[in-house]
Amino acid sequence: MIHDISLRLHPREAATSEMLRLAVARQMSLLPQEINDLYVVRRSIDARQRQVMVNVTVRVATGDTSEVKECWTPKRFQDVSSARHQVIIAGAGPAGLFAALKAIEFGIRPIILERGKDVDRRRLDIAALNRKGVVDPDSNYCFGEGGAGTFSDGKLFTRSKKRGDVSEILGLLYQHGADESILVDSHPHIGSDRLPIIIKNIRKTILDHGGNVFFDTRVTDLLVDRRRMAVTGVAVEDGRHFMGPVVLATGHSARDIYRMLDRRGVEIEPKGLAIGVRLEHPQHLIDMIQYHSPKGRGKWLPAAEYKFVCQSGGRGVYSFCMCPGGVIVPAVSGPGQLVVNGMSASARASRYANSGMVVEIRPGDFPEFEEEGNLQMLALQENLEKRFYEEAGHTLNAPAQRMTDFVVCRESSDLPSSSYLPGIHPSRMDLLLPTFISSRLREGFRIFGQRSRGFMSEDAILVGLESRTSSPVRIPRDRETLQHIALAGLYPVGEGAGYAGGIVSAAIDGQNAVTALAGNIQVDLHADCNINDL
Ligand SMILES: Cc1cc2nc3c(=O)[nH]c(=O)nc-3n(C[C@H](O)[C@H](O)[C@H](O)COP(=O)(O)OP(=O)(O)OC[C@H]3O[C@@H](n4cnc5c(N)ncnc54)[C@H](O)[C@@H]3O)c2cc1C
Repeated sequence: MIHDISLRLHPREAATSEMLRLAVARQMSLLPQEINDLYVVRRSIDARQRQVMVNVTVRVATGDTSEVKECWTPKRFQDVSSARHQVIIAGAGPAGLFAALKAIEFGIRPIILERGKDVDRRRLDIAALNRKGVVDPDSNYCFGEGGAGTFSDGKLFTRSKKRGDVSEILGLLYQHGADESILVDSHPHIGSDRLPIIIKNIRKTILDHGGNVFFDTRVTDLLVDRRRMAVTGVAVEDGRHFMGPVVLATGHSARDIYRMLDRRGVEIEPKGLAIGVRLEHPQHLIDMIQYHSPKGRGKWLPAAEYKFVCQSGGRGVYSFCMCPGGVIVPAVSGPGQLVVNGMSASARASRYANSGMVVEIRPGDFPEFEEEGNLQMLALQENLEKRFYEEAGHTLNAPAQRMTDFVVCRESSDLPSSSYLPGIHPSRMDLLLPTFISSRLREGFRIFGQRSRGFMSEDAILVGLESRTSSPVRIPRDRETLQHIALAGLYPVGEGAGYAGGIVSAAIDGQNAVTALAGNIQVDLHADCNINDL
C-alpha cells in the first residue's frame, strides 16, 4: 500500500533517511523493517516557535507495494534536426533555454543566439572581474550561457501561482542534474557551484536533439517585414541574418536591445523597479535571531533566511533575493557601472548572509529623467550606477556603511569584513543615494529592527548599489498570442521583457511563449523559414 504521512519533527529526526524511517515507523505503529520504501514529498522548516520544527510529508510503501514512484518522470525529447519549423531564441538565460526545450517538445528546431561565452569560459571572465575588476561587456554575472541565473543563488521559489508549470521547471532541472531535494523543499535552492553543470546538460539536450547554440553572437537588430508588420528574423553583430520567429529573451541588462527597440519605434513602456543596497550580516547573527538560540543553527538546520517588507512614504521597502551563507558579487554588465547582487553555493557555508534591501520606484518618481520617455527608468539606473562607480574612484571597490551609522546619517569610521571580493570602503551611502531612496530605507531599517531584535546591528553593513532587481522596461505583448502588440513573430519573454522576476518565472515564461508560438505557427505567414543563412 502507498500512504502519505505528515510528520512534525525535531530537526535531528528529519536530518537523515534512517532517522526519518524511524519517525515514520513510530507514527504508523510499524517496525522500521515493515517500511519497504519512502520518499519525501514536501519538507519545510517552521521557525515560528522557540523550538524549531521540520514539517515533512512522506510517501510510504508497505505490504505488497515495494516502491514509491518518483515525483518526476523524465521527459523524452524528439529529434528536430530536420524539422520544418525553426525559432530564433535571443539569449541563453532561463527563459531562452527553457523556450528551446519546449520548442523541441513541439517539434520546432531552436536556434539559440547568445552574446556571451559558454559557461566554462565565462567562469574565467568572472574570476577576472572579482580579482582584477576587469569587465567584459559580453561575459560577466549578467551575460553568458545560463544568463543571470548561472552564477546566482539558484533559489527556485516563485510567487507564480502556476504550480503545474513550476513543477515542470523543477522536474527539468532535476532531469538535468539538480538534486532531488528541489522537488520537495518548500524553498528549493541549487547554488552557483552546481548551476553550471545543469546548464551544460541542458545545452547538451538541445544539441543532441538537433537544436543549435551560437555563443559570442550578439543580436543587434530585428529584421522586419514592414508590409506585414512582422519580425522575420534577427541580424547579429558580424552581419549574419538568422531567419524565423524570434523569442527575445535577452534579460534585464541588455540595454542595447532596449535602445535598439526604442530607436526603431517598437512599442516599449517604462516599468517600475526597486533600487537600494545589499545588506550583509554575519550569518551566525541571522541564525541566532531566526532560530531563537544563542547557539545559532546547530548541527541539523540550514543557514537561516529572513524576509521583510513594509511601507514607507507610499512605497514598498523590502528585502530581495536573500542569500544565506552567500557572498556579494559585482553584477556589472559594462564599464563605468557599480552594481552588486548576491549568490551562494549549494552548501550555503559562507560566514555571511546578504540580501537586497530595496525601495519600490515608479515611473515619474524622478521627474528629472522623464524626458528620457520610455527609457526613463533605465536612465535612472545608469545614472545611479555611474554615481557609485565614480565615488569608488572608477573601480569596483564598493561604497559601504554600517547599518547603525546609515540610520543616524553618520560616516562609519571603520567597517567589518565583507564577502565582497573587489573590496569595500567607508562612504556616506545615506548621501550617495537619492533622498527618495535613503529616507525610505532608513525608515524600513528602523521598522525591521523593531520587528526582529538584533537585526539592526553595527556588525551589519550596506554595500551599494543594488539596482538590477528587475527590468526598467516592459515590452508589451498580446495576452493570447504572446507576440508583441504591434509586431507579429516577435515574442518578448522573461525578465528583460518585464514578465518574470527570477529563474523559475523566466523559465515558465519562455516555455509559455513557445507554446503560444506552436499554436500560432499554423497561421504564421513566415512559418516556412529560410535556414540558408545558418
Ligand atoms: C547574482 C544574481 C543572483 C540571482 N539570484 C537569483 C536566485 O537565487 N533566484 C532567482 O530566481 N533569480 C535570481 N537572480 C535573477 C535571475 O537570474 C533572473 O531573474 C533570470 O536569470 C532571468 O532570466 P532571463 O532568461 O529572463 O534573463 P537572463 O538570465 O538575464 O538571460 C538573458 C541572456 O540573454 C543574453 N543576451 C543579452 N543581450 C543579448 C543580445 N543582444 N544578443 C544575444 N544574447 C543576449 C545574455 O547574455 C543572457 O545570457 C539572480 C540574478 C543575479 C545577477
